[in-house]
Amino acid sequence: MIKLKGIAVSGGVGIGTVLVLRKDEFSIPKRKISHDEISREIYRLEEALIETRRQISQLQKNISKDIGFDHGRIFEAHFLVLEDRVLIEDVIKQIKIRKVNVEYAFSQSIKKYVDTLLKLNDEYLRERVVDIEDIARRVLRTMLKEKAVALSDLKEKVVIVAHDLAPSQTASLPKDNVLGFVTEIGGRTSHTAIIARTLRIPAVVGLESATENIKSGDKIIVDGSSGEVIVQPTEKILKQYQKRSTLYTKEIKSIHISKILRPRTKDGKETIVSANIELPEEIPLIKQYGAEGIGLYRTEYIFLGRRDLPSEEEQYEAYRTVAKKVKPHGVVFRTIDIGGDKFLSRPEVPKEMSPFLGWRAIRFCLARPEVFKAQLRAMLRASAEKNVNIMFPMISGIEELRQAKNILEQCKEELKQEGKSFDDKVPVGTMIEVPSAALTADALAKESAFFSIGTNDLIQYSLAVDRANEKVAYLYEPGHPAVLKLIKQVIDAAHDNNIWVGMCGEMSGEPIFAVLLLGIELDKFSMSAPQIPKIKELIANVTFKDAQRIAREALKLLTAKEVEKYLQEELKNILGDNFYHILMI
Ligand code: PEP
Ligand code: MG
Repeated sequence: MIKLKGIAVSGGVGIGTVLVLRKDEFSIPKRKISHDEISREIYRLEEALIETRRQISQLQKNISKDIGFDHGRIFEAHFLVLEDRVLIEDVIKQIKIRKVNVEYAFSQSIKKYVDTLLKLNDEYLRERVVDIEDIARRVLRTMLKEKAVALSDLKEKVVIVAHDLAPSQTASLPKDNVLGFVTEIGGRTSHTAIIARTLRIPAVVGLESATENIKSGDKIIVDGSSGEVIVQPTEKILKQYQKRSTLYTKEIKSIHISKILRPRTKDGKETIVSANIELPEEIPLIKQYGAEGIGLYRTEYIFLGRRDLPSEEEQYEAYRTVAKKVKPHGVVFRTIDIGGDKFLSRPEVPKEMSPFLGWRAIRFCLARPEVFKAQLRAMLRASAEKNVNIMFPMISGIEELRQAKNILEQCKEELKQEGKSFDDKVPVGTMIEVPSAALTADALAKESAFFSIGTNDLIQYSLAVDRANEKVAYLYEPGHPAVLKLIKQVIDAAHDNNIWVGMCGEMSGEPIFAVLLLGIELDKFSMSAPQIPKIKELIANVTFKDAQRIAREALKLLTAKEVEKYLQEELKNILGDNFYHILMI
């Protein structure tokens, strides 16, 4: 038995058999095929070889153009492998005789090929092994182009252990067959963690060397509430955790979802609690949790995990469906926020040294007006439903906001000329998630219909702590006095300018902070849907007067630890036995 500890990001206990996805490798499925499937698998081999050849030619062209013909020739060894009849015949033989799928047959043939070269004791040929492995990975990646889908197609119940899972992969995990997951990198507010919470998949991230210590087929326990991961547990430990898992499931099922949609403090202050979503399919779920509309729709998920860009029409259909389904409430569409830890699978989006500080969100959109306009036009057309709001992510100052609004105005003009209907008064808001925006909130408020504070980013940018880096996760502190001061300043600036201000960062779904936020008069809370019942219950059990007093005191404290301790104690005093009940929800 080995006990490991990572960062707990999504509650619950997952117990099952491990499937390891190694860094830069894929889990290569082995599947027996029937006689009738043989020709299809051979066809898939040919297709993958042609596609890989096309990719390499393109790469070769680009490199030759950029740095000269000689460098382009480095790919010649790759072409030789792709055309090697001995290799190709061997794969076909395996498909026909062993009746296995093409990915497995190809990986086995490559293994044989590499082993033979390594035995030859020829330095030149041994060096070619790197090229061969590289090209083999490319071919496999092409064959497994449904890789994310392959994950979504899992037929058995497993616990996934991976170096990392892309947010788009996590979003497409089949909830029923993924009992939990463990990754080596990530933090509490990395997008993968956020999605795990939304899907209620127990998850632990930031567990270094997980893929070295854990093997496919191991029995494993993932405690997403404590961060503990137990590999090959003893019978006794297994029983303990099985009990804990049953208890947790029972507790979840017993959640009483309040019939009152809009929570009200004991002394009568009403607050709106809405949900953050990534995919339109989450709408029934958020209704179940009692969300009052959608406070953040992360529209970039329509763009992730695919090779092409969604058209205006496709986006329009998606946005209009969401707007219709969420009625009688509203939806806040956020324009695409790619970059950071979410990437398009397109070659023109380059890898960056510091992606969170790089070509992300509004910066990408302003640089690619054709992509931006297609999305804005789709959103505007959906606004004909009259319950739509639009907001821009990662605004760093008034100039960016004006540029984005200008493009929105152009889109309105175009739609008018084309006779397409939209809501001319659609509210346009600004996300406050960069310190420079928080510090100039007064100016931004004058040109925004509302604010939405994105603390996931605001915290990382103001404390200089990468939200997805487990090594500095201990410094990621929502209760840091600097963060609290910035938030208060933003709320005050919004109210001074008569606009509403919400928060769609994870902080608003954390009970101790929710009370503080209520006290500094945040108007709307938006969070992962499973947090909603807890936060509503909490709001209904405190007075606004107490929340104001608590906030005042908390803002005087000097460290995040003092703030958290103080908030916990106050909540315990006010809520008594209810405190533990609410935290368990
Ligand atoms: C945030 O930054 O708080 C936010 C809600 O946006 P995202 O998590 O998508 O970056
Ligand atoms: Mg953000």
